[in-house]
Amino acid sequence: MKRTRSGTKQVYTLADLENWEKATRGISPPIRLGVFGDPVAHSLSPQIQSAALKHHKIDIQYGRFHIRPNELASAVEFISKLDFIGINLTLPHKIGAAGLVDELDETAKRTGAVNTIKIENGKLRGFNTDGRGFSRAIREEFSVDLRDLRILVLGAGGAARAIALECAKESCERLVIANRTLEKADKLADELRDFFAGPRVLGPVARLQSIPLEEAAIRFQIGHVDLVVNATPLGLDRGGASPIPARLLAPHVMVYDTIYSANRTPLVSAAIEAGARAANGLSMLLHQGALAFEIWFQREAPLDVMRKAID
Ligand code: NAP
Repeated sequence: MKRTRSGTKQVYTLADLENWEKATRGISPPIRLGVFGDPVAHSLSPQIQSAALKHHKIDIQYGRFHIRPNELASAVEFISKLDFIGINLTLPHKIGAAGLVDELDETAKRTGAVNTIKIENGKLRGFNTDGRGFSRAIREEFSVDLRDLRILVLGAGGAARAIALECAKESCERLVIANRTLEKADKLADELRDFFAGPRVLGPVARLQSIPLEEAAIRFQIGHVDLVVNATPLGLDRGGASPIPARLLAPHVMVYDTIYSANRTPLVSAAIEAGARAANGLSMLLHQGALAFEIWFQREAPLDVMRKAID
């Protein structure tokens, strides 16, 4: 069994949670935070959160848990009884977790997805920090606020929903949602329509639109947007294709790929080829993690320390 330098296992499972005392005998400080995912080995959350805990001299550890979808309900029940402070959820658990907590914050309610759980007096509170993490990432990467941007979001799944909601809440100039399954983009746009009802100077195109993720539709929109966001897994596989080819991009757009990788993602490469500014999802990962830390501990997350841990 692989162990880390601090004696914890590299990856825990539901079976470990069932026998937590035995699985963590001799582990000090105790594991009271963690991430549930399937797969989870690639998650950078342990590095980010461990750096913050160490910085603030908080004497607990953050574990990695390989939890399958059919195990999620049991795993969440265990942590509520095991003196955990909280948990992060990554793929594919964000939507499942929303149905397992006692309370949802407004963003988690609207997106139907939870990426952070806080346990207080045995109660599970669900939050979603992806949208605000995205907003902070855009400010950091491009020195602009969402409210000043015309934004094209590719995808209508969990991440896209959190991002689109944040764009709407921050009253972005324009929002276009492009998805392979058009009905899902239509539904998301309908849910956000109220945010775009107010008076605002409009150009020749609608302020809120849903379109198919197809070349002709994207080609038309590119001239009317400032920021393109990839919130699909396209490009996650090494050697995979970009969701938008370089020929559809233009030097005036900023491109943000929520996929994070040490190397350039296919979309970031396409953007650079087109002369556009581009960044990948590491900054969003960092900021959503910093917000989770602040939810758990009510104190400022040490951003520079957390950033250094994944650089
Ligand atoms: P999800 O809920 O499964 O949604 C996936 C979306 O991608 C859907 O809109 C889906 O379209 C679309 N899609 C999937 N395969 C496609 C394909 N072959 N061609 C075209 N469209 C396709 O997933 P999610 O939770 O939103 O995650 C999406 C990505 O966001 C992840 O890969 C992850 O890298 C990234 N993410 C990053 C962060 C961060 O902190 N940086 C945080 C969260 C997520 P349909 O509706 O047509 O199926």
